[in-house]
Amino acid sequence: MKYGRTYNFSAGPAMMPEPVLEEIAAEMMNYRGSGMCVMEMSHRSKVFQQIRDEAEADLRKLMGIPGNYKVLFIQGGGTVQFAMVAMNLMKNGVGCYVETGAWSKKAIAEAKKYGEVKIVASSADKNFSYIPDCSNLDIPDNADYIYICENETINGTTYFQLPNTKGKVLVSDQSSMFLSRSCDVEKYGLIWGGVQKNVGPAGMAIVIIREDLIRDDLPKFVPTYMSYKTHADNDSLYNTPNCWAIYCCGKVFKYLLENGGLEAMHKRNVEKAGILYDFLDQSKLFTGAVRKEDRSLMNVPFVTPSKEQDADVVAASKEAGFDNLKGHKSVGGLRASIYNAMPKEGVEALVEFLTKYEKEHS
Ligand SMILES: *Cc1c(COP(=O)(O)O)cnc(C)c1O
Repeated sequence: MKYGRTYNFSAGPAMMPEPVLEEIAAEMMNYRGSGMCVMEMSHRSKVFQQIRDEAEADLRKLMGIPGNYKVLFIQGGGTVQFAMVAMNLMKNGVGCYVETGAWSKKAIAEAKKYGEVKIVASSADKNFSYIPDCSNLDIPDNADYIYICENETINGTTYFQLPNTKGKVLVSDQSSMFLSRSCDVEKYGLIWGGVQKNVGPAGMAIVIIREDLIRDDLPKFVPTYMSYKTHADNDSLYNTPNCWAIYCCGKVFKYLLENGGLEAMHKRNVEKAGILYDFLDQSKLFTGAVRKEDRSLMNVPFVTPSKEQDADVVAASKEAGFDNLKGHKSVGGLRASIYNAMPKEGVEALVEFLTKYEKEHS
């Protein structure tokens, strides 16, 4: 690794592609002859408008977003979307939720403030270690949408098959898998992702919403900023946006386009995750925490037989030059987040370290 950088397995904010960081550094003091840094620029200037427009156009190209979907850049990170989804989409006041872990639980708790929530499937019975069967959900006729967290960052599960929504709108939190593989946008009514997991700096969410779901008859209590229509009508420039995040994300979109797009990313991600899962499957000390069919390619939680040993591995990993391998405080154990920007060499180095640790402690 260049610049003395470390293999950082953080769940987010997380690693960004090195060439992108280098480009940002090169443009820091004077962005392309503008005489200023992007941080200092008016969001109403021509030069920023171009940065914004290119970012959207590149994202549309990357994901193949159809023309009848809006792309919105909204501040407040992921958590704000838990409320915005419910406030904007609960026309009949009924949201169906699949409960698969910490992040869907938060979405459920928030939605309950604005309407009726029906949990149509859950994996709570086995500590959220799998994705429940969603092929024949009991969905009420007046349901406004079916909500999933498509990759549970903390629990380490992912959907390899989308739920059968029986014609209802599918809403997906893709925060920790956004742009990790190709995505058939037309299968969704709304996709959202906080960008600090797999794309750029913290503080922004990207929302991809089908136009017919944007309403102008929202309840009066909905703040102006929390209405998707506000952002859609103003190209995400209703107020000062997170200019810096839009700029950095735009760079990552270009980088992904230049490096084979989402299919190439997915291929790399399958290979990277495979290296780690293959190790876990044969290890006598470390155990993966998730059912095989539902294992995330982005977040890999695993445990040793004891909490004390988990802590010892984390400490040893720091000494060996890795960072952020401690599992989330709500589940414990260890977790390696291996997003797009984690090089294959980083995963190989981790497996080498774990192999050595196991040898020395058996
Ligand atoms: C991190 C995360 C969030 C919350 O994002 P914040 O920007 O911290 O509010 C929501 N959903 C998922 C799946 C996440 O991984």
